[in-house]
Amino acid sequence: MSKVRVATLWLDGCSGCHMSLLDIDQRLLTLVSKVDIVYSPLIDIKEFPEDVDLTVVEGGVSSSEDLEKIHKVRKNTKLLMALGDCAITGNVPSMRNLFPLSAIYERVYVETADIKKPVPVAGVPTLLPRCRPVHELVPVDVYLPGCPPPADAIFFALTELAEGRMPELGTLSRFGR
Ligand code: SF4
Repeated sequence: MSKVRVATLWLDGCSGCHMSLLDIDQRLLTLVSKVDIVYSPLIDIKEFPEDVDLTVVEGGVSSSEDLEKIHKVRKNTKLLMALGDCAITGNVPSMRNLFPLSAIYERVYVETADIKKPVPVAGVPTLLPRCRPVHELVPVDVYLPGCPPPADAIFFALTELAEGRMPELGTLSRFGR
């Protein structure tokens, strides 16, 4: 039987959700007997492939680059999982939504900078007016809450999906934990 092709995507998040994925520890060996990781910040593949079975997304959609990525990923993947509270609600990165973009740029690139104070006009992706949860931009098939979601819940969800079942997460994971 061919393995399930799995990708992971890192948008505007702290990488804690990916760290929790790695916390499944030796069970990674069980997982890789069922899935091939075809794209991820954890491996060195630059282009998102065309025929992905499952993509796990960490983080909110905050920039023009995030927006481009999530549309490309959705187009090329059968199932999309929002992993963690930032992907599901915006959570921490959406705290900046309370302020106008000009105030964010001023705070980050001028007020708190020691050198090179001008706001950069090239070389960094343009921020969207608001950080948005993934489901506001593209359809999401599976939600796995938590900040970060526990490794046990991630392992359970991935193994269930790899077996072709929708995971019933029950109390394994909840928002803010
Ligand atoms: Fe980090 Fe929590 Fe957001 Fe995951 S949900 S990216 S752990 S802040």
